[in-house]
Amino acid sequence: MRSDEIATEARRVLDICDACGYCNGFCDLFEAARRRPALSDGDLAHLANLCHACRNCLYACQYAPPHVFQVNVPRTLARLRQRTYAEYVWPKGLAFLLDHGRLSTLIVTLAATALMIGLVLTSLPPETLFDRHLGTGAFYRILPWETMAWIGAIPLGWSALAIGIGLRRYWRATRPGSARVTSRAFVRALRDVVLLRNLQGGGPGCNDLDDRPSHARRRLHQTLAAGVLLSLAATLVATLYHHALGWEAPYPALSAPVALGTLGGVCMTVGAIGLLWLKRRGDQTPTAPESRRADAAILGLLLWVALTGLALLIWRETGAMGILLAIHLGGVLALFILLPYSKLVHAGYRFISLLIEAMEQASGRKA
Ligand code: SF4
Ligand code: SF4
Repeated sequence: MRSDEIATEARRVLDICDACGYCNGFCDLFEAARRRPALSDGDLAHLANLCHACRNCLYACQYAPPHVFQVNVPRTLARLRQRTYAEYVWPKGLAFLLDHGRLSTLIVTLAATALMIGLVLTSLPPETLFDRHLGTGAFYRILPWETMAWIGAIPLGWSALAIGIGLRRYWRATRPGSARVTSRAFVRALRDVVLLRNLQGGGPGCNDLDDRPSHARRRLHQTLAAGVLLSLAATLVATLYHHALGWEAPYPALSAPVALGTLGGVCMTVGAIGLLWLKRRGDQTPTAPESRRADAAILGLLLWVALTGLALLIWRETGAMGILLAIHLGGVLALFILLPYSKLVHAGYRFISLLIEAMEQASGRKA
């Protein structure tokens, strides 16, 4: 569907919801939509990202298909959400990466992995690459620390800049004129992110698979996010060890970086497999095919990074360590590159939408 068709459909559906009001208790969206009778493009972007796709409003809706009104709020907002990622992306010329999420994830992952494998194959003779490397500094005999640091820092720096510009644009387009950012609103938005309050459907849970309520998706999402944060913590602690204490990787199995990284990898694996399973087995009616494919692709990449990281840990004292390191770093590099150009960027947009909602609720704003 074209952007204008998606926006027209969203306005039609939300106008019906405004008149109906049956789903107001499920999440923040319906009240937020009522405060925005004009439903400008910025309003629609905000509402699309406020929706957490819990699907309650589809199974509760008397106007859902096969009714002639064909009201399908989760699918309509999923399409709209996907459009907002492309709308606010920086630079605009890279919006095609979001429009073709599955293909771009696959190509970037293959290219980044080929680059890393090519780098180790061309910089080391085979007998060194496939030799066992033990003890302090073993990883850096495959790739020097400086090389690894630059390979991570350049794409990460670019992605941080791109995400920052995109979120600034989004904030300008969606922020309410009268409500103010307060520390209370900020804390509330942060709490909503951690608890995924809007994925509780007002308490009983989401419709993860069908019309039965469940908390599976919320818990799996939290497990995956915790895994990413634990892995990040492992990297930060390892960096501290390297620079502040002069201790070089690999670290012992009972050290903080390995414990954090292992737990992070396991959480990422469990979360990603569970979410992929829900995507495959769940009712497809509330989802949009374009966002479903892109979501599955990025979940697949997160799973790949977790599994290759765990494989590296298990086989780090064998001759396979060098090639496993290259494969794992290829996945991490792809993840860094795709941060602003995949579903991963949703975290920032959703936080801003939750912040705006918290600001409006605090100020009792009426449009
Ligand atoms: S989704 Fe259906 S039942 Fe819910 S508010 Fe909209 S029209 Fe009413
Ligand atoms: S799918 Fe869930 S979060 Fe989205 S509008 Fe419907 S009830 Fe709200």
